[in-house]
Amino acid sequence: MQDYNINGLAIPLFLMFMLLEYVLLRLKGQKLHRFNDSVASLSMGMLLLISDALLKAYTFAVFIYLFDQHRLFEFPPGAAATWLIFFFAVDFCYYWFHRCAHQFNFLWGAHVGHHQSEEYNLTTALRQSAFQYAFSWVFYLPLALLGCPPQVFLVLFILLKLYQFWLHNQLINKIPYIEGILSTPSSHRVHHAKNPLYIDKNYGGTLVIWDRMFGSWQAELASEPCHYGTSHPLKTLNPIKANLQHWWMLAKDTATTQSWRDKLRLWFKPTGWRPKDCRNKETANPVPLQKTGCARREKYDPQTSLPIKCYVAFSMLMIFYLSCSFILLSPMLPTLSILVATVLIVTGLVSANALLENKLGYLGVETLRLPVMLYFSATLSTPLVAAIADILPVF
Ligand SMILES: [Zn+2]
Repeated sequence: MQDYNINGLAIPLFLMFMLLEYVLLRLKGQKLHRFNDSVASLSMGMLLLISDALLKAYTFAVFIYLFDQHRLFEFPPGAAATWLIFFFAVDFCYYWFHRCAHQFNFLWGAHVGHHQSEEYNLTTALRQSAFQYAFSWVFYLPLALLGCPPQVFLVLFILLKLYQFWLHNQLINKIPYIEGILSTPSSHRVHHAKNPLYIDKNYGGTLVIWDRMFGSWQAELASEPCHYGTSHPLKTLNPIKANLQHWWMLAKDTATTQSWRDKLRLWFKPTGWRPKDCRNKETANPVPLQKTGCARREKYDPQTSLPIKCYVAFSMLMIFYLSCSFILLSPMLPTLSILVATVLIVTGLVSANALLENKLGYLGVETLRLPVMLYFSATLSTPLVAAIADILPVF
């Protein structure tokens, strides 16, 4: 079998579960999705999958190198004890990455994208910062030194990520016996809430025992319904701006502050820390710090016409198709094809979200982009069919 990136196959599966969640909610008479919010979240997910497809092979190579050359202990990959020990170890590393990603200005910039949605549903699970993996992989390197076999790490890491998908829903209430032990939709709703009581709580991936051990546990309270999003609202659907939101604020403070020491250290300070001269400039209209939390507020909800929404839905379906093909085939595609696919997908996502903000000038961009994308997608259809025929017998 050829070398494929099977992450590409996850997209249709995720879409199927999202559709199921939407139907179940509508049957219960609940409306917890907004079209523009869902498109924005899925756009962020597409960007993450692309950056993952481009990055993961290189970062995993570092893990394999450390394991091959510098591991301290031997753990047989076939032993149940190896899987059990590293299940806890991978989850522990995730907890500390996640906690640091919330606690430090620079890392919050690589994680804030996951928290910007003001809704909470399965599309929120796919809403991830495109740059998160560029930093998170470092937190797992101690496992390579301890002797975690790379194939064990890879399977456990994928399971950890898959487990987190279902946590992002409001259909499932508290689950008896496992609350406070395993991460659940209820405990993760708290993590996504911007209520001051819930800020910086429940970092656990699969297990929340780490939160209880290290003082970051908070149960969901009936008296305190969750309001989702970040303290400082994003107020755009643009996925590029969403990815750069916090770093852009830090860059502006770096340029503004007179203190050279602050220009450097503000990136490594606790999230929300700002140089004194930057804070003083905004006393009339201060920007709320990301970590202060806030009460319920009006959601960012730009409106556009039904024909534009229909076009965006069509465009997103085309982008999903191209993304699946591109990610699946990425290990065997020439650099030029990777570049063309990346540009077509990224510009398509920016256009789709801009159209939902009623920026109709982007229809001009689409008249150029869409024919090129349709032609390029068609050129990938033959290798895509071959890849699926190659992969299916394995399952
Ligand atoms: Zn988080």
